[in-house]
Amino acid sequence: MNFLKELFSKKRVIDRSCKVTLSGRPPELSREAAAPAAIDPVTGQHKDYWVLCEKEIAKGFVRPVRTKYVHKKCGVETSMGLKLAETYAVDPKFYAYTFCVHCKDHYPVSEFYWSDSPKEDVGS
Ligand SMILES: [Zn+2]
Repeated sequence: MNFLKELFSKKRVIDRSCKVTLSGRPPELSREAAAPAAIDPVTGQHKDYWVLCEKEIAKGFVRPVRTKYVHKKCGVETSMGLKLAETYAVDPKFYAYTFCVHCKDHYPVSEFYWSDSPKEDVGS
């Protein structure tokens, strides 16, 4: 009984400093930067993004792994890679901003909802 109590009261803590680059390449910017590489002026996207390290991903998903979201302002759907989607699923507040393929810029995650669950904002 005490064991179960302890198990369920244990707080799940994600170490956001345990992050790696999506590309697997060394980061071009500091570890404190919002992304490990600068924005590519052609696409509007960063040349690389942070994702949680394997140790943190292994702590498990608290949300479904979703790869598509919609920007409320323009209504256009953006898809992302699995590593980014898994990072959201482990730590929904890991990213403050996300990219819209139509507007070609990053906006606060609350300006987007998940394609398969329109009532749920990204980052919630
Ligand atoms: Zn947009």
